[in-house]
Amino acid sequence: MNEMELMMHLHLDNKRQGPGSTETTWLALDLARIDLTRSYRIADIGCGTGAQTIDLAQKLKGEIVAVDIFSEFLDKLKNRITCNELSADVKTLSASMDNLTFAKDEFDMIWSEGAVYNMGFRNGISYWKNFLKLGGILAVSELSWTTNSRPSELEDFWNGEYSEMDTVAGKMKVLEEAGYRVLAHFILPENCWTDNYYIPLLQSHNAFLEKFGNIDTARKIVDLDKQESDFYNKYKDFYSYGFYIAQKI
Ligand code: SAH
Repeated sequence: MNEMELMMHLHLDNKRQGPGSTETTWLALDLARIDLTRSYRIADIGCGTGAQTIDLAQKLKGEIVAVDIFSEFLDKLKNRITCNELSADVKTLSASMDNLTFAKDEFDMIWSEGAVYNMGFRNGISYWKNFLKLGGILAVSELSWTTNSRPSELEDFWNGEYSEMDTVAGKMKVLEEAGYRVLAHFILPENCWTDNYYIPLLQSHNAFLEKFGNIDTARKIVDLDKQESDFYNKYKDFYSYGFYIAQKI
């Protein structure tokens, strides 16, 4: 089993696979300033088990295509679809975010929480723009520095983990350079990271290690999660996920 598959197993029973919350998904939707009485076609890319897909499907009309590379995550989402009152139809699609068979200009909105880093921010927002209508909305959350400078221990850690680590202003510049108008942005608050992400994640480590603890990579994943969580608690003033709401121009 490779690292990605192990990570999938670690995260499979959790509600979220990255920092986020219902409140911030709905805040991003408000900031997109779209008419909620209309029907839209939306893609939710890197949806995981679909926490934000369900939140969106409760507010929106039309169709949401929820995309993830792991069908195991999509099966969890399918369960949630049947258990919730939704105003939008949700379809699932197992595909890689950098190789999508959607039509040009197919979507009114592309949503992606905590996932675009898998293909890189610049790459992802540029590629997905092909599938957005002119004037369509991109709502994407992405790890970002929230201050202009930071302790070097922290800077070294995240630069080592993610080569596109940048400030909020830097991320907005990338969006502008890729042909978007940035309509709004905000920074995810602490509960998105702690209550909704690290706490349940660290709680799932024991069961994960019982199954996969004999694999080196599995133990490394667990150690890195703990290190990341410790870093977050120590340095949360310097980084978060930025949520960027932008329009294709
Ligand atoms: N949006 C969810 C999941 C975020 S975690 C949430 O916020 O809870 C990132 C997700 O991206 C995971 O579900 C992972 O399976 C998915 N992913 C990783 N690489 C991918 C790829 N190449 N194509 C599609 N999805 C991918």
